[in-house]
Parts: sequence; structure tokens; C-alpha cells
Amino acid sequence: MIVLVTFLCYDIFIHLFGTVDVHIFIKMLPKGNTFKMHSLKRIIGHVGRQLSVTRLVAITGKQLILPFYHVVSNERLAHINHLYKHVGTKSFEKDLDSLLKNFKPISLQQLIDVNGQANQLDKPSFHITFDDGLRECAEVIAPILSRKGIPATFFINSGFVDNRGLFYRFKVSLILDHIEQNEVSKNELKAIRNLMPEGAPSLKNANTIVNLLKNLTYEHQFVINQVADVFEIDFGTFVRKQKPYMSKSQILKLIDDGFTIGAHSIDHPQYQKLELEEQLDQTKESLQYVQEVLKVPYKVFAFPFTDHGVSNDFFDELYNKEKPLVDLTFGTAGLKTDSHPKHLQRIAMDGTELTALQSVKAAYAASAIQQMFGINRVKRK
Ligand SMILES: [Zn+2]
Repeated sequence: MIVLVTFLCYDIFIHLFGTVDVHIFIKMLPKGNTFKMHSLKRIIGHVGRQLSVTRLVAITGKQLILPFYHVVSNERLAHINHLYKHVGTKSFEKDLDSLLKNFKPISLQQLIDVNGQANQLDKPSFHITFDDGLRECAEVIAPILSRKGIPATFFINSGFVDNRGLFYRFKVSLILDHIEQNEVSKNELKAIRNLMPEGAPSLKNANTIVNLLKNLTYEHQFVINQVADVFEIDFGTFVRKQKPYMSKSQILKLIDDGFTIGAHSIDHPQYQKLELEEQLDQTKESLQYVQEVLKVPYKVFAFPFTDHGVSNDFFDELYNKEKPLVDLTFGTAGLKTDSHPKHLQRIAMDGTELTALQSVKAAYAASAIQQMFGINRVKRK
């Protein structure tokens, strides 16, 4: 019974926030809850680990898994460090080896050819994807994948290619990094207080600034920039020196090497907070960039953060019967199915202590429970 309740709690959380957001959300929670969420995931992972992949596939009938990462690096990445835990190359290679033992790697084209329908695949299969178009995709991840013969899709933000901009969450991470390594002076605290609108919670010390920053979202970008100014953090210099994103020529080289590229919005907003028109603009413009500038023949899109709260109207426009704008789309709700058959959900690999296979087994275990309770399908309004 306890296990059942545990699965349900996990499912409800995933359903509400999506897997990527779980990790960002965990970071935002007070310490006690962080422990509980990690414990919860560990329990689910533990239960799933007791069963073989073959057994889990048989129980759930799910032949296809779509694991996704953001970055693989042996370096400390200040723009990511305060958002989620990423894997190093050794762990990544182990992850891939364990996936290869249990699943057949398939290409994006194979997935498009079967319209994303797992029941048309002859064996348990996986297609691995990477979000956000970070430099490490070309420099670290692709060489490892090529060596192992694994096809993959990289989802890019059109506004950040060639380091023309910086994701607001990366900006937050850079400010948090600065605060961690430097004392917040009285003058800085006062300057940040002055930025706050009337009625905002009072900022007593550095900890309250940290909490404030963790809760800032896409529509607060001007505040994030102003806070950075107070600490004299220059994002332009960071972007020029660090080059966090792939250049266009790096992406073209990935295409030459047989990898596939998809769109991931212009600048990574939270879709559930945008009007339908803005959601469509972000999606269409980023798809157009991939099509026209990178000249790829297929059209795929992965939601930034999560597809939670995105309406049927959005999907109806994208999958317009006369002229569909996409071949497939991707969310982050684990192994759930979606009311739109070509919208496929993926399993998050970053931000957890679990290995890839443990995360996959946990997703299968959660899926089995979801199926029992009839909550394994994402429903939309
Ligand atoms: Zn993303």
C-alpha cells in the first residue's frame, strides 16, 4: 500500500510539473522537502530495479523509451550548477552502455516513419535526445555517441545559436554562483531591496535574495538583469568567454555527422504562462530556423520545461490536417502517452543521483501504477 501511494504521489508530481521541472522544483523546495522528493524517487527506483527491463516492458507494453539529457561535462558549469546536477563523461558512457544492453537505438527518421507509434517497433527501442543546444553537445556528447553508433536528436533554441543570448535560468545560476562565492554587502542588499516593487516580501539577507532569485521566471527577466547589474555580473562577457551554446557551424557539423536537429522555442519560455499566440510564435519561429537556416527535411519540436497546461488548440494548429507544421513533438512526462498521438513523452536523465537504467526502470514502475489507475495518458483542454 505504501508503495502504491508513493507511486501515485510521484505520478501526480510528474503530471503537474513534468520531469525536468521536478528537478528545478526540488531545488526551490525547503531542505526537508528536498530530502523527501529524493527519497521518493529513490524508493520508486528501488522498486523498479527489482524487475528486469524485459519484465517491465511486458507489464506496461511500452516498447519505446525516449531518454533526454541537457549536458554532459567533467567541468564545473557555473551557469548550470545551481539548476540541476549533470553527469560527467564516465557516467554518461556507463548510462549509454546500459541502455544499449536493454534497448535498440533508433534514429529520429525511424521514429517519424512509424509516426512515433511504439507498437510498430520490433524490439524495445530508444531514441536519445538533448535539449538546449549547449556547446558540450558538439564537443563532448556527439563524439561519444558516434563512437558507440548511437543516433540522437539535439533540440536547440533558435535565439541562442552562436551565443546570441542566454537562457534566463542560466543567468539566475550565474548570480547564485556569485553569491555563493562572495559575501553580499550591505550596499548590494540595499540596492536589490530598492529594485523590488511595493508589497514584495522584504529582503533581510543573502538567503532571502537566493530564494527570490530561484522563484524568478521568464517574465521577470528585467529583474534578473537588474540584480546582475548590482553584483556587476556582465552576462555579455560570460557568453563571449564561455560560449555556452553551439555555433551554427557546430550544428551543421552535427547534421553532417548524421545527427538530427529539432526546435526548442526561441528563448526557452514557460509555455503555460504564454498566450496561445505567443506559444505558436515561439514554436513556429524556432521550427522555421531549423528548416530554413539549417535546411533539415524533417520537423520536430520539444517543449521548453514542460508541455503541462498547453491546450488542444495549440496541438490542433501544429498538427493541422492540411499542412502539419511538425512531424513529431516531445514533452517531459516520462512514459505517459498523450491525447495527441504524435506528441511523445520523454524521461529526464539529468538532475538525479540515479543511473540512466535506474531512471528508466523507475519510469516503467510509475507507468505500471499509472496504468492500473487509468492515469497514464496526458489529457488536455
Ligand atoms: Zn530546455
